[in-house]
Amino acid sequence: MRLIMPLLIARVRSPTVREGAEGAPSLTVGLLTRSSLYLTIFTEEMNLHTPHTASLICVPITETRAAAFLSAISEAEQVADALELRLDYLINDDELTRVLRTLSATRVTKPLIFTYRPREQGGKRELDLCDRLEFWRNLSPAIMANLAYADLELDLVEGLIDSPPPVPWDKVICSYHNFDETPAEVSEFYDRIARTPAAVIKIATQATRLTDCLRLFELLERTTSSKPVIALAMGLPGLPTRVLALSRGAWLTFGALRRGAESASGQPTAAELRDIYRVKRLSRTCDVFGVIGDRVGQSRSPAMHNTALAARGRDAVYLPFVVARTDLSEFVRDFVRPGTRRMDWRLRGLSVTIPHKISIMSHLDFIDSVAERIGAVNTVAVEGNELRGYNTDVIGAMRPLDELMDVRGARVAVLGAGGAARAVCYGLNQRGAHATIYARNLAAAERLADEFGTQASPLERFGGHTDIVINCTPVGMRGHSEGASPVKPEQLQGVGLVYDLVYNPIETALLNDARNAGCHTLGGLAMLVTQAAEQFRIWTGEEAPTERMWEAVSEAGVSNQ
Ligand code: NAP
Repeated sequence: MRLIMPLLIARVRSPTVREGAEGAPSLTVGLLTRSSLYLTIFTEEMNLHTPHTASLICVPITETRAAAFLSAISEAEQVADALELRLDYLINDDELTRVLRTLSATRVTKPLIFTYRPREQGGKRELDLCDRLEFWRNLSPAIMANLAYADLELDLVEGLIDSPPPVPWDKVICSYHNFDETPAEVSEFYDRIARTPAAVIKIATQATRLTDCLRLFELLERTTSSKPVIALAMGLPGLPTRVLALSRGAWLTFGALRRGAESASGQPTAAELRDIYRVKRLSRTCDVFGVIGDRVGQSRSPAMHNTALAARGRDAVYLPFVVARTDLSEFVRDFVRPGTRRMDWRLRGLSVTIPHKISIMSHLDFIDSVAERIGAVNTVAVEGNELRGYNTDVIGAMRPLDELMDVRGARVAVLGAGGAARAVCYGLNQRGAHATIYARNLAAAERLADEFGTQASPLERFGGHTDIVINCTPVGMRGHSEGASPVKPEQLQGVGLVYDLVYNPIETALLNDARNAGCHTLGGLAMLVTQAAEQFRIWTGEEAPTERMWEAVSEAGVSNQ
């Protein structure tokens, strides 16, 4: 039973920052006027503990209108350990006042961090130093006594060191943001913040390359200082800092309420952090796996592999690593090879995708015979000090087919002459099938045909007596040519099975035409899951939970990767 009476604080103690919903403090925030804000906190159970032991997923509230802002707070309470109220996102003073007024009559069950950031530091409002000071100074002592934390930018804090702070220092997160880069001297900003009386150090910088993460991880290693630290790299290359933050002693990590509600680029959702990456369960010594490529942002491999790792109860995580073509050598040196890596972690394996499947080979100590024959590696295992390369695309493409039929002696039309066609031709050759490669680039088809002792033909000549058609072109793929098919529907008459390696969308025009022509069909999701399951087996020695992986990739929706 709670009674809300502005100015009358029934029972006030410092708010705590704690994990989970059970026993969390309940906050009641009261506002009289914009310049006279009173926060009253009523708590039933306040198990205070030091910020150092916190390990929080904090959801920023980024709506621009009061009604949406308040409803986002209610929603975020369900998934967050703490909420950052980005008050600078509110579009004008009226909206700001409405939010604060309504909060005065609302129970908020999670600790609140207030932020009011100027545009030049990544905020949404044009605010000069006076505006910012006025905002904080106008908050009443009652509010200050009960606010969980206030995020004050470094310039503001440094200007306040010799004067009475508008917020008690033990409730100040002092932050430095850089939205352009992670400067080489980022540790100097850390030191400057550490010298202030603020309670928490926050550094958030833009990662333009994966290497930038190293500097942020180094800051987390310095948490021997008496202050808790938040150190995050923004942008997709910075994702490892967000996912591994808590396991490496960071005080909190930010997760958006939903896609589109991020407060910074590269910010995953809170649900992804908790349910896919399991950030609160990872230990400092967890195994790390990941996919390297230059466009891994949309990859569904993290959904598949993290589901598999969780299902097998492993202290392990799988991450997307953005590695440009020109950065591969540096990545292998600094992040992968046990003898040279600067990153202190247990990296155990990598999926390799465009554009590194061939170039990775020169960095490996061992390449298995299938990968050698195919001339491409899509899987790296770190074993002892060795990097070992494998190709699971052959097994990925062929096992689903093997489960349907014996292809020995079958007449197979392979459409396309790229990397996937290569893996398929190898698998068909091994099984004694008669393949013909149909490609728009006849020279490429002929080269492949020579290598595997098969026939080559222009794509437009496809037709005639064929038992199986395997589409190894991207035709029909979302973002490429969705709705198109590499062959005409009438060309599928009499074909026994049509296998489309394209998996996004799951239902392609080719598969639809094939069913209408009375053919059996097989979609590309089977290959996607099978090649990933084989990677899982290589890395862990355990059979993969393929059904769970299948569910994960289907639920998550599929991408262009
Ligand atoms: P790739 O190496 O780029 O080869 C693509 C092949 O398709 C090339 O022969 C290319 O011919 C041909 N092609 C491209 N656009 C075409 C068009 N409009 N009409 C006719 N032919 C065209 O790519 P890949 O790695 O082999 O992958 C091919 C597709 O297979 C991917 O797009 C993906 O959808 C699918 N795939 C699925 C999985 C899975 O797990 N299910 C795995 C790998 C690949 P040119 O040389 O003339 O460009």
